Amino acid sequence: MTFLKKIPLFAFLFLAAPLFGQLPTADRVARHIRYLASDRMQGRGTGSRENARAAAYIVRQFRKAGLTPRGTDGFYQPFTARVRRVVVADSLRPASNVVGFLDNGAAGTIVIGAHYDHLGLGRQGSSLDPKPEGQIHNGADDNASGVAGLIELARYYARNDRKEPYNFLFIAFGAEELGLLGSRHFLNHPTVPTASLNFMVCMDMIGRYNPERGVGIGGYGTSDAWPEVFKGVTAGVKFFTDRAGNGGSDNAAFYAKGIPVLFFHTGGHPDYHKPGDDPDKIDARAEAEILRLEIRLVDRALDLPKMTFTPVR
Ligand SMILES: [Zn+2]
Repeated sequence: MTFLKKIPLFAFLFLAAPLFGQLPTADRVARHIRYLASDRMQGRGTGSRENARAAAYIVRQFRKAGLTPRGTDGFYQPFTARVRRVVVADSLRPASNVVGFLDNGAAGTIVIGAHYDHLGLGRQGSSLDPKPEGQIHNGADDNASGVAGLIELARYYARNDRKEPYNFLFIAFGAEELGLLGSRHFLNHPTVPTASLNFMVCMDMIGRYNPERGVGIGGYGTSDAWPEVFKGVTAGVKFFTDRAGNGGSDNAAFYAKGIPVLFFHTGGHPDYHKPGDDPDKIDARAEAEILRLEIRLVDRALDLPKMTFTPVR
């Protein structure tokens, strides 16, 4: 206190700005979601021009945050998505992950991921609408919300003026809706050795916070270190943990490779995989709180040695 008293308030605020100024805000979260889930993005179906446009947006945001490209073609890691259940006849589509790296010169790396593809115009299967063909499946919650979180965490860790004892790999996965194709492709062709990966944080549908339910955090049982990480952590949103880490989204691909995971999810709703999953139904303020909780948890894990994986039975 005596130390602070000697510094004028404006100087303190100026000094503190780099530390606190880049925390995720509801405004920025809402802006990413409005862009990615607008009608002109046509539901970001795998292989579409709009899916590529969404990837380009993520590249711009990663570059702006100051990440280094870590795909196989700059930030991009292209692959071919095989479509098995389709309404129309094509079966091979171009797809890509978007991979950015925050190099802290550390031996270990933390992965933060979210898929950016969705169901497009309802012709690639898995829509729950009775007549999906031709309808834009905007996918605001699934998963523009997770991508907004990914971009905001990248921005936070790249600009927080701290060199963490782990590197960060930020991955926007393609073709998740076709069966975790992007995350599986990454793990079969890793651009950072998988043995150096500490744990993976996955965000899929974190935009429809329900205060009754709270945000679910899966993967609690995937390492004995998680209870230590969560100990005493509080948040501006209600949350609960679930031991399982092998379902729901791209975290399942990392779990299958023996990497500890956390999976953030605000729960199902009547618009799930339907054209009504729109940006105006997103609670961006709650999402920003969820992201701040993620930062708190990741920051606690930074003080611990590389985690050991535990299979969940
Ligand atoms: Zn999803």
